[in-house]
Amino acid sequence: MIEQTPLAQRLARPELIAMTPYQSARRIGGSGDIWLNANESPFANTDTAYNRYPEFQPSLLIENYARYAKLEQTQVLASRGADEAIELLIRTFCVPGQDKITICTPTYGMYAISAATCNVAVNTVPLTSDWQLDDRLSDKLEGSKLLFICNPNNPTGSTLTPEQIEPIVATLAQQCLVVVDEAYIEFSPHLSMASLIAKYDNLVVLRTLSKAFALAGLRCGFMLANQGIIELVKKVIAPYPVPAPVGEIAGNALSIDGVAQMNSQVAQLNQLGAEFSAQLTQLNGVSDVYHSGANFVLVRFSDSSWFKQLGDAGIVVRNQTQVTSLENCLRFSIGSAVEMSRLIEQLQQISARIAA
Ligand code: PMP
Repeated sequence: MIEQTPLAQRLARPELIAMTPYQSARRIGGSGDIWLNANESPFANTDTAYNRYPEFQPSLLIENYARYAKLEQTQVLASRGADEAIELLIRTFCVPGQDKITICTPTYGMYAISAATCNVAVNTVPLTSDWQLDDRLSDKLEGSKLLFICNPNNPTGSTLTPEQIEPIVATLAQQCLVVVDEAYIEFSPHLSMASLIAKYDNLVVLRTLSKAFALAGLRCGFMLANQGIIELVKKVIAPYPVPAPVGEIAGNALSIDGVAQMNSQVAQLNQLGAEFSAQLTQLNGVSDVYHSGANFVLVRFSDSSWFKQLGDAGIVVRNQTQVTSLENCLRFSIGSAVEMSRLIEQLQQISARIAA
């Protein structure tokens, strides 16, 4: 029996505690040269043996991610993107119709959607006007099981320091899991909370290969937490959650060379982002260019016409104007140098039309 943290057990849905996870063929394992335990086909029709189920958690992938994140392998769970990790946390810890989560808005939309699809209530504590956490956040959780903090935050790009988040994790040590969504952390690596996982039983960090690692199509993310939490989530996750080709491609992307390539691409994107932000501040009709620690920039314009004008020029960006407190805001992902120069050219033209 693997030891679970008392806190994780206390917060988990009670029915999970005694439940034995589904014993898939790979989880049971075995040794031998004739494998007739998983109702697989004996015909390997492709070069790789895709007739066989993959490992539950591909060892190369977990080994490489643990090395990259400077954590133990027992503290890493691979999932179908960070999106699946969000849903798994809600399904593991929140009793439908009873428990709630807290989110700090504006933020990533899937926390609330995943909660809604699980019949779990969402308590909203808005960020301040400069996108900082509410001073009294810890007092406003209304008994939530999970507190989601996105850092860098989507869609604002705003950042929090570990010194700002750690006291909240410490305060909530006995009552609530703090889930820090670090989907964009490679663009601001100094802000990561991952090194504090060993210190706090209630800290969970979410990661993804979809952003800095340039593998959004692969659908591979990670949950980082102490073993007690990871083991509970392993009771809820599907039997073979990481497709074999995903495990292979992702495992290789996390090699020493793969990480070096990621770091050099992040440096380029951060440079392009800084240049783009500086150019934006020069434009008529731009009210606010929010500082970003991620690979996108949130911009507030003086009116809502820019989205359509960019669209007419074939440039697709994310309209945020319907989001509370983001009136007239657009979110721009940082693309290639060529894409960014075409974008800024269009923005300059729109701006000149406004000035005329
Ligand atoms: N968290 C945040 C903050 C995101 O912006 C995204 C992707 N838009 C995700 C999680 C989900 O990432 P993934 O592609 O790994 O599911």
